[in-house]
Amino acid sequence: MINRKKISFDVTVYDAFNELNDAGQTLMSAAVKARQRAYAPYSSFNVGASVLMDNGEIIEGNNQENASYPSGLCAERVAIFYAGAKYPGMSIRAIAITAASLNHEVSEPAAPCGNCRQAISEYEFRQGEPIRILLMGETGSVIECNSLADLLPLGFNSSFLN
Ligand SMILES: [Zn+2]
Repeated sequence: MINRKKISFDVTVYDAFNELNDAGQTLMSAAVKARQRAYAPYSSFNVGASVLMDNGEIIEGNNQENASYPSGLCAERVAIFYAGAKYPGMSIRAIAITAASLNHEVSEPAAPCGNCRQAISEYEFRQGEPIRILLMGETGSVIECNSLADLLPLGFNSSFLN
């Protein structure tokens, strides 16, 4: 017997940054500031990420590129690994991500790459509570996802190892 299943999820779309609530604007503003400090001399694609911890602190990261390309790391993983290093075991409430290019205007929300989705999902699975994800380009709309799991359907986690 074959069953067909549809996997779908809801997002909230804000037309612009200033439609976010105060907490959302604060978190995204931190990501923008982090983005402006990115080290991306090879791609000229600057990404900032900010992680809202359960204690209210915001941890920031940005992409760190390298002349040996694979040695660099995305903003999202820089931020979430720093969060895990500074506050091991503390729940993460939300992550904001923003991208801007020196070569063109990024007017669509920038989504995390597959590696970063997997990295964030580790924390979400471990804490058992969803991590809200806010996505923005340099301009334009902002997308809010309720959970990282929405962005990584049929994801792999530690439950498969036991
Ligand atoms: Zn990434």
